Order: sequence, then C-alpha cells, then structure tokens
Amino acid sequence: MKKEIRRSKVKELLNSEVTGKDVLVKGWVRTKRESRNVVFIALNDGSTINNIQIVAETSEFPENLLRDISTGGCIAVTGKLVESQGKGQKVEISASAIEIYGKSDPESYPLQKKGHSMEFLREIAHLRFRTNTFGAVFRIRHTLAYAIHKYFNDKGFYYLHTPIITGSDCEGAGEMFHVTTLDLKNIPLDEKGEVDFSNDFFGTETNLTVSGQLEGELGALALGEIYTFGPTFRAENSNTPRHLAEFWMIEPEMAFYDIKDNMDLAEDFVKYLIRYILENCSDDLAFLNSNIYKGLIDRLNFVLENEFRRITYTEAIEALLSAERKWEFPVEWGRDLQAEHERYLVEQYYKCPVIITDYPKEIKAFYMKQNDDGKTVKAMDVLFPGIGEIIGGSQREEDYEKLLARIRELKLPEKDLWWYLETRKFGTAPHSGFGLGFERLMLFITGMSNIRDVIPFPRTPKNAEF
Ligand code: ATP
Ligand code: MN
Repeated sequence: MKKEIRRSKVKELLNSEVTGKDVLVKGWVRTKRESRNVVFIALNDGSTINNIQIVAETSEFPENLLRDISTGGCIAVTGKLVESQGKGQKVEISASAIEIYGKSDPESYPLQKKGHSMEFLREIAHLRFRTNTFGAVFRIRHTLAYAIHKYFNDKGFYYLHTPIITGSDCEGAGEMFHVTTLDLKNIPLDEKGEVDFSNDFFGTETNLTVSGQLEGELGALALGEIYTFGPTFRAENSNTPRHLAEFWMIEPEMAFYDIKDNMDLAEDFVKYLIRYILENCSDDLAFLNSNIYKGLIDRLNFVLENEFRRITYTEAIEALLSAERKWEFPVEWGRDLQAEHERYLVEQYYKCPVIITDYPKEIKAFYMKQNDDGKTVKAMDVLFPGIGEIIGGSQREEDYEKLLARIRELKLPEKDLWWYLETRKFGTAPHSGFGLGFERLMLFITGMSNIRDVIPFPRTPKNAEF
C-alpha cells in the first residue's frame, strides 16, 4: 500500500530546501502553459501570494487528465520537490500523480485575464478571493486583526464583548437599523399612534449598535483598560468610498487616561500595527505596492518615521482660512470639518498625520469632557493622508452634574442612560477612549481606494448580496 503523504502548504514548500522527497499540494490553478512535452501549472492555495510551479511530463499522464486541467480548477498534486530549471522560482514540483477535485470551464470562468476592474470584481465577490489582489488584502486583514489583539493583550487590556443589539440610541453617532420581530405587515400601534414595542421580542425598541463605547466605559471603570473589536452598523445613506453600513470598529477605553494619554496610545497603536504588517506581510505588501498603489510602502514608512502633528480645532480653522482655494463646504469656527478640509490639512498643509483636539462642543457627542472655556470639548480626531478621519475619540466627562446637565441640554433620553450616569455617581474616574475604523486603516495599509474592497462582503445602501 502507498504511504500517505501529509499535505504541504505552498508557502512552506517555497521556503523549504530541496529534499528530493515526495510532497503533496492542493490548490487552484492560476495558469496552465503547454510546451512540447511538458505542461506547466501555476498553483495557488491561499497560503501565500506566490504560486508553486508544477511540471507534468505529457507522456506520463493520460491525455484527458492534463486537458481537463484549466485556470480556476482545483487539483491535488503529488511529486518531487526539485530545484527549478526555469527562472522566477527556486523550487518546483515534478508531478507524479494529479487528482482533479473540480474542473473549471475555461470559456465561462470569470477570472481569466488580469486587469478586471474593482467594480466588476465586486459583482463576483464569491470569486474575487482568488485574485492576487484580494488574496493579499484578506491575508493582511487577518494579520491586522491578529496584531490588534496582540497589541492590547501585551499591554494588559481586556477584550470586552459589547452587545450588537442595543436598546439605547443615545450614542448620536449615526442613523440606526431597527431590530424587530414584529410583523411588518401589521405593526401594533398604541393610543398615540406610535409603534407599540411592548409585544416585540425584547419588549422595547432595539437597534443594531453604532458603537460599543458606552458599554465599553462601564467595563473600563472596573477592569481598568478594555477594548472592543466588533461590527458596528450605520444606516446613513453615505455612498462614499470611505463609508460602509456594516463596518468593524476597535474601541479601547481606559480608566485614568487623560486626552494626552489617549493621543499617545492612538499614535503608538497605529504605528505598531503598521510596523507589524510591514514585518509580517512583506510579500503581499510588495504586490500591492507595485500593482495597486505605487508608493504604498514609502507611505507606511513615512507614518512610522514621523510624529503625528497635534493641533487644536481652532488652529485647523485658521490654517483652512489661510488657504488660497475655494471650498465646497464653508470653513467657519463652529462648523464641522468635511473630508475636503481634513485631507487638505493632512496632505497639503501639514503633510503628515494630524491629531485635531478641542472641537466646539456643539459638533461633538454629549459624553465628551468639557474644557474650562465653556466652548470646546476634549475631543481628538486622527486624520490620515488619503483617508481623512481614521480615529475619533475623547476624554469622557466624568463629572456627574456636568454630564447630566449636557444630557438635559441636548434633550437626550435621560431615563435610558441611567446606568451610564450611575458610573459617575459611584466611584467615577477620569477616563478616555477612541474608535478606530478597521476598514479605514485597511484602506491606508493596503492602498486600496474603495472601502468596499477591504471587507469580504460589503454592506452599502441598496447592496447586501453574498
Ligand atoms: P465620518 O465623519 O468619516 O463619517 P464619524 O465621525 O461618523 O466619521 P465616528 O462616529 O467617530 O466617525 O466613528 C469612529 C471611527 O469609525 C471613524 O473615525 C472611522 O474610522 C470609522 N467610521 C465611521 N463611520 C464609518 C462608516 N460608515 N464606515 C466605515 N468606517 C466608519
Ligand atoms: Mn459618520
């Protein structure tokens, strides 16, 4: 009986020395090339962006077997790992047996040629994983998620799972998606004609979360330093290359951190993540650097080598007012900054990542700590080249009276926030936190230009396929 051979990953074989021993690989055919007596197959199994070359002598295989192998098909190959005769690779497999798992009709396989548009690939999101670009993007996405957990774990932060279904809609971060089991054809109304949620699944109105922050704060005020990393949902109709309806957010929340500690953490965190990807995803980055965004690796190194510029909102407004150009959205103290303003500051004015602090309280959330000037709050936004806002955060208001006054001023549903307020009643503490958009950081690190192309299955207005 033949001895079973353990399957090797392509990555492992490409990095190994020639042993002359039999190996077994399984994967998808990227290309097949025929010369006089041999067939060359480039095989990829997802473990690396690089393919392994399979060399099959035509005389040693049934004719129809080699004929049935084509781009997109899936095969298992047994053979000897030998030194490659050709250029471009150190090792190759001289095949002795090939099994076809799945044929692929070369006429109708959608991924024949290079150079498909990103738009087209979005329509075949079930197959786009098989391109070099998306293979690279999703390997990096995995590694980035791992690095995030590693960073916080090594620093003593706890990963806290905050709820995805929430009864509070006081975050103010964006429009929410309702969660209900009520019969949409027959919605129960109360005497006032409002929806009667008492018979709904949770007995109250519920939504998908826009942020885990409020719950995260509760954890931080006992565990010290926590972070969340989960999906968040915004039903805003933002059809931009930087907005998704479902995106992932990382939200650290730390007791005893002031706004400066918060900025230091944000800068250190992002730099750590970029360095981690540079060190651990070099093949994928090299591919993206030459095929997607020339200058990508330089851009990443530039961020590592430079300190983020820290300015106040008031300084940002002054810089924008001094710019000799027209804005689509007006610049005026008290108005929120738009993407065009943020990108100008980062890309043309300061020419480096920028952290803006001390925003007017009117344009920021109720929970941000008020400055003594009575006008601004201890908010911080981190802006990146090519992206604009990547992080939004603040020192939180820890004073019970001030927080309550702000809630009343803004007419927020005070009774729904009782638990949040109680943390300020019992052993309140200065604390801070921020939210990093995972896909926004992915855009920066991969050089991809549309946020739909850095998440496996994008959810955007009028689109929830796959
Ligand atoms: P923007 O002004 O760009 O819409 P925001 O002010 O609504 O962002 P926050 O509520 O502060 O953003 O959310 C924290 C972070 O989450 C942002 O800095 C950004 O990185 C990310 N983010 C926010 N909205 C989205 C979205 N719709 N899709 C993807 N990422 C998002
Ligand atoms: Mn938004």
